[in-house]
Amino acid sequence: MCPTMTVPLFDPLTPLAPLRERLDAAVRGVLDDGRFILGPNVEAFEREFAAAIGTTEAVGVANGTDALTIALRALGVGPGDEVIVPSFTFFASAGAIPPTGATPVFCDIDPETFLATPETVKAVMTPRTKAVVVVHLFGNVAPVREIEALGVPVVEDTAQAAGSIGPDGRPGALGTIATFSFYPSKNLGCFGDGGAVTTSDAQLADRVRLLRAHGSRGPAGFEEVGWNSRLDELQAAVLRVMLPELPHWAAHRRLVGRWYAEAGLDEYCRLPVATAGSEPAWHVFVVRHDRPDELRDALTQRGVEARDYYRTPAHRQRAMQGISISGELPGTDEAARTHLALPISAATTWEQVVEVTEAVRDAAI
Ligand SMILES: *Cc1c(COP(=O)(O)O)cnc(C)c1O
Repeated sequence: MCPTMTVPLFDPLTPLAPLRERLDAAVRGVLDDGRFILGPNVEAFEREFAAAIGTTEAVGVANGTDALTIALRALGVGPGDEVIVPSFTFFASAGAIPPTGATPVFCDIDPETFLATPETVKAVMTPRTKAVVVVHLFGNVAPVREIEALGVPVVEDTAQAAGSIGPDGRPGALGTIATFSFYPSKNLGCFGDGGAVTTSDAQLADRVRLLRAHGSRGPAGFEEVGWNSRLDELQAAVLRVMLPELPHWAAHRRLVGRWYAEAGLDEYCRLPVATAGSEPAWHVFVVRHDRPDELRDALTQRGVEARDYYRTPAHRQRAMQGISISGELPGTDEAARTHLALPISAATTWEQVVEVTEAVRDAAI
């Protein structure tokens, strides 16, 4: 966020202002208590977060990337396996796969929704496919049930979709297992790094608990090599203050999406298309335009922050060469070339939406 912008891309602080005293008290409480790792706040947050998402289990971990690696390992993914993942996503969705020993296999997306579909997943399935990472990108809700019906377990990467609502329930409760990030700019963000794994399979949750704590259940010893990846007690304490706010923060993000349409933004660029029956809590509001970089420059001059995210999709990143599999991904390339993120947050006002829309109109690009 740049302070000179009149309309910032993100605004994580304004929504927290009314919570300030309760956040201070939560931090003080942890300092008074003195238990900083896997204390009462992590345990309570795990219960409260599972209830909010609609699963029976939630396990706090250190970040959303570890959440993916550990969820895949909990499913038994390892060397020789293939894991399907979209390429048009934050790099970590794919980067979390090689640490399991498995090979990322990139699938295409529908550029209108920015999401994988049963068709794009099916196109790259092989007998080695052990799991699919389905990303609810930008808050839009992917067709998890339909993809899981292909006969392979789905890990929902829900880092960008806390608070979204799908036709079959909430993202994070649609597939076998799901992962969240509480990085500060996400729909539910803490004051540092944090993450969670959700599932309604008690055995899988037990595996995740084992793997986040060095593969140990305690004094009995080490059953396998795991990770040191726990959600901090301090982060859990502040997340417990924020979690009850998520429904109205998410509702506001939905409203801002509708405001952009009402303000007539669709006359100047292509708006994101929500999947059938879903109500996305837009994490970022990503439009498509034939000359997105020129539009971004014009908006920046006018004080409206805008940026691209995945101009180079994961399958074209140097880090993935030689350790991943991908064919032609035309939907991915189209989205990568044309997308541009416009401002949205739980504090965006109608006046800001009008300002952004007029800035896009006046750019006349
Ligand atoms: C943020 C994000 C992650 C990674 O989360 P971290 O907490 O930053 O490790 C993974 N996938 C997607 C889609 C994300 O947006």
